[in-house]
Amino acid sequence: MDAVRCNRRLNAELLRRFERSTVADRVSNQKNMRKPVVDSTRFIDLSHAIEDGMKAYPGFPSPKIQAFLSREDSQSHYDGKAEFYIGKVEMVGNVGTYLDSPFHRNAKGLDLSQIPLESIAAVTGIAIDGQPSANRSIKIDCDESELRGRAVLVRTGWDERWGTERYWEPSPFLSDGSIDLLVRSKAKLVGVDFWNIDDVENKARPAHTRLLGANIVIVEHLANLSALPRTGFRFYAVPPRIVNGASFPVRAFAEI
Ligand SMILES: [Zn+2]
Repeated sequence: MDAVRCNRRLNAELLRRFERSTVADRVSNQKNMRKPVVDSTRFIDLSHAIEDGMKAYPGFPSPKIQAFLSREDSQSHYDGKAEFYIGKVEMVGNVGTYLDSPFHRNAKGLDLSQIPLESIAAVTGIAIDGQPSANRSIKIDCDESELRGRAVLVRTGWDERWGTERYWEPSPFLSDGSIDLLVRSKAKLVGVDFWNIDDVENKARPAHTRLLGANIVIVEHLANLSALPRTGFRFYAVPPRIVNGASFPVRAFAEI
């Protein structure tokens, strides 16, 4: 009850400050958004940006982001009174930070339009420090109870290589024991900050097979996981609702 009252006071104070502030203050606050003065709710962006011509997944085409209708060409539609930009994006679903639906692996699995929001929005999160062994596998050392119903995010720092060829070297991956643990503990979602949750040299793809087979969705190519505490955050990775959609980019973020 005290916490609720305290939050109400905080919101009232924020509103008073906003009303007293000048436009110049607000512009200056916008510029300083990385260092908010009062920080009751905080979002941490965990996604890579998607840009025209960037490298997608090895062997897949780069995204093309362009105008379908340019501002200039649109003017004649509005008798010169207005102009719009209609964008067109052409890409495979596996670009940037993306979510894999069960349908990505199994023809009868849930597609992007069928994933319950409970699995991808406001999921209580846990960030695990992944220490790859000599063969690049990561063993998750946790109790089942810590992972049950959670978004389990495995951080290794591999995302620091993003934008370089080194990013696409064989990355860490989840060990068989870690996959067992995640399935047993009924995690809701598993996210990693590298480019494949499986060993790219293992064509059986056991992590995709077993996690997606248990309706545990996967998010790959996460960024900035080092900014997260171990617990005490909610995770969001919501793709558009595409029928027969397999994988698609998400704006993944955490709410602290
Ligand atoms: Zn995948």
